[in-house]
Amino acid sequence: MTTMDEATARAELVRLSRSLYERGFSVGSAGNISVAVADGLLITPTNSCLGSLDPPCISKLDRNGRHISGDKPSKEIFLHQAFYETRPQAGAVVHLHSTYATALSCLPDLDPHDCIPALTPYVVMRVGRVPLLPYVRPGDPAMGTMIRELGGSRAAVLLANHGTVVTASDLTSAVYAAEELEETAKLLVLLQARQPRILTTAQVAELHAVFGTS
Ligand code: ZN
Repeated sequence: MTTMDEATARAELVRLSRSLYERGFSVGSAGNISVAVADGLLITPTNSCLGSLDPPCISKLDRNGRHISGDKPSKEIFLHQAFYETRPQAGAVVHLHSTYATALSCLPDLDPHDCIPALTPYVVMRVGRVPLLPYVRPGDPAMGTMIRELGGSRAAVLLANHGTVVTASDLTSAVYAAEELEETAKLLVLLQARQPRILTTAQVAELHAVFGTS
C-alpha cells in the first residue's frame, strides 16, 4: 500500500472523483471513494457528488473508524472498512454504481465466485477474480460482513443489483481498476446475446501468476 501526505490525498481524491463523474462513471450522489492516509482514512461524505467535492469537507476517520473531521462519511463506509481490515495492501477503495457493471449485477445465472468472465486480459491483470455478493440494503452493515468473509482474498466484488467495489494499493490504481471492471462489464453486456470466446483457464492462470492477482 502507498500512502500520500494528507493534502495530496485530498487533492487527488477531488481530482479523480471529478474525472469519474465527468466521464459518466457516477451520476448524482452515487458512489463513494476512500484513500488511506498515515493516521486514518479519507472518504467522500454522505450524499456528496463526486463531481464537486470540497477538500476540507471530505470526511476523515481515525484508525479506529471514529469520524474526526469533515462532513458525515458515506453510509456505505462498511464496504471500505471491510477491505482495509482484511487486505493490508489496500491503499484506496472505489465504489461505483457504473451503468454496465450494475446492469450485469442484475442478470440471473452469474457465477457467484467469479462473475466476470475473462473476455480480455485487463480485468484479470488489474482486478483478478470478482465474486458476486447477494443484495442487501445500501448502508446495511451486512455488506461489510460479506466482504470480511472473503478474508482479503479478492480485490473487487460485484454487489447484486447495486454496483462494484474495487481496491488497490493506491488511489490511481483503484480508479483504473474500477474503470477496467466497468469496461469489461460493458463488453459482457454488449456480447450477451452472442457466445463470445473467453480466455482459457491456462491463459487466466498465466495472468494471475505474472500480475500477482488471484
Ligand atoms: Zn452504493
